[in-house]
Amino acid sequence: MAGNTRIEATNSVLLALLPVQRRRLLAHSEQVNLAIGDILCEPGKPTRHVYFPNNGIISLLNPVDGHTSVEVGLVGREGMAGMGLFLGVSVSSLRMLVQASGTAARMKATSFRSELRRNPLLREVLNKYLYVFLAQVAQTAACNRHHKLGPRLARRLLMTLDRLQSNELELTQEMLANMLGVRRVGVTKAAALLQKRNLIRYSRGHITILDRKGLACASCWCYGAVNDIRDSVFV
Ligand SMILES: [Zn+2]
Repeated sequence: MAGNTRIEATNSVLLALLPVQRRRLLAHSEQVNLAIGDILCEPGKPTRHVYFPNNGIISLLNPVDGHTSVEVGLVGREGMAGMGLFLGVSVSSLRMLVQASGTAARMKATSFRSELRRNPLLREVLNKYLYVFLAQVAQTAACNRHHKLGPRLARRLLMTLDRLQSNELELTQEMLANMLGVRRVGVTKAAALLQKRNLIRYSRGHITILDRKGLACASCWCYGAVNDIRDSVFV
């Protein structure tokens, strides 16, 4: 489907461009489906594409050793995956794993580079996005070190909700444990506590958010902190 100009973009980066720029970018992109578990790029491998998700979530994982990795960031409709290419680096240091299904506009690295050269507004928007993304990564590092699992789980669920705009999430305990870098038994206990407070309903990998405001109260400070930074950058 490369060259398809009929793609409906709901991605915030694309929506921030002028219509003529957005049409041109989409004309050089293809719409692809993102399926849970798809690996879009591996550490040490060339980044062949950038992705502008319309929905769905791409999880960025940093390898810790040969067997495990930890999530360092999330990309959804608010951003772009493949930011190394924006910085002129063509080899990925992270694994890009689809954590929630959806669709994305996918653009080849060569097309993206030429669009960057001719489009100062795209560079400006991505600079701002990169700033917010780094704030998310830094806050997550601090969060992992200083905050308890329950509030961290609430924050992670809210971050997922924001990107999917749905109250229904497909997340197994194993996925949550990998995202939070903890053992599965810890996630089981933390999810049970949120369920006991009637904030979520959890059953076999399916989570229903019952009380979003209550979940925000149960989250650590980090959730609001990153949102405040985003709001101050994208005014
Ligand atoms: Zn935190």
